[in-house]
Amino acid sequence: MRHNKLFTPGPTEVREEILQVLSNPQYYHRSSEFSELYEELQPKLQKMLYTKNPVLLFPSSSTGAMEAAVINGVRKKCLNLVNGAFSNRWHEITEMNGIPNDVISIEWDTAIKPDMVREKLDTGEYDAVTLVFNETSTGLMNPLEEIARVVREYDDVLLLVDAVSAMGGVKIEVDKLGIDMLLAGVQKCIALPAGIAIASVSDRLLERAKEVNRGFYFNIPRMYKYHLKNQTMVTPPIPQIFALNAQMDYILNEEGLENRFARHERMAKIVQEWARKYFDIYPEKGYESKTVTCIKNTRGISVADLNKELMKHYVRISNGYGKLKEKTFRIAHMGDMQVHDIYGILGLIEEILDL
Ligand SMILES: *Cc1c(COP(=O)(O)O)cnc(C)c1O
Repeated sequence: MRHNKLFTPGPTEVREEILQVLSNPQYYHRSSEFSELYEELQPKLQKMLYTKNPVLLFPSSSTGAMEAAVINGVRKKCLNLVNGAFSNRWHEITEMNGIPNDVISIEWDTAIKPDMVREKLDTGEYDAVTLVFNETSTGLMNPLEEIARVVREYDDVLLLVDAVSAMGGVKIEVDKLGIDMLLAGVQKCIALPAGIAIASVSDRLLERAKEVNRGFYFNIPRMYKYHLKNQTMVTPPIPQIFALNAQMDYILNEEGLENRFARHERMAKIVQEWARKYFDIYPEKGYESKTVTCIKNTRGISVADLNKELMKHYVRISNGYGKLKEKTFRIAHMGDMQVHDIYGILGLIEEILDL
């Protein structure tokens, strides 16, 4: 069967061993064998996120968990930080749920700076902030640690973070940073097929969610009640849970978290040095993503044609996102991709473009 290896920023390539785990026979989700699996998985997820907070499983892609964050986490007014397509999506989600909000909206090649956030929070109008840590649409990494430090100066303000294309590839210390909800789907750095999202939830967020008591499918207090019994509220995507449990063993024990983060840094460095040599990089210097590089198409190549040629060699990359199509292109270096894969794709692009 023809298969193009994915150098795309989600979904990413899934290892053969994991594909096999997905075909395990199903468990009944109210059985003790399911609860044992759930209970076994929980501390592994907490370890990856450096947290003692419960980590809930959402039976949806990442966007579902983004919706859960704002419907549960905002009582008064939300501050949406927007500098890319996914942070803009979070603003739309907030808006379409009828949740009061304001936006800080800046150019897509520019990082959100802590002072912008402080200035807004000083008004006392907000009780939650949404931040996309790694903007997959622009290959930009916002300064999460610095922004978290600012938000933590305000007791009543919850910090909701989309780490969809960073979790499992970049170290994020949830408890140290005081992140109230850190969410991600599994089809990016965790390198599983899409279908489940995971999110850590703080006590503060649980309290807030009880107060606002919004929604049903994504009602966090209801989900948490089942979590305490090592169950999920609804029938979960059980194949993804088998796969997640196996992948967490691989990440924690076989590769090791620190090695995994170091591999992502190394791959990013290789792609970014290459991109600067032959093209340029889209986001502001100093804020380049460690998991996906968004390359400025300074040579005016046809990205669509390049991808067609790449697919003749059974690999593919991503065009620019939305309005950045053809103006940029993206090479993902996330998940279970290895350094030799990166040298392979870059060498092939050089050959095709005669660089
Ligand atoms: C991919 C992505 C999403 C959307 O993920 P789905 O799993 O398709 O819902 C949201 N935020 C970021 C930063 C992403 O990279």
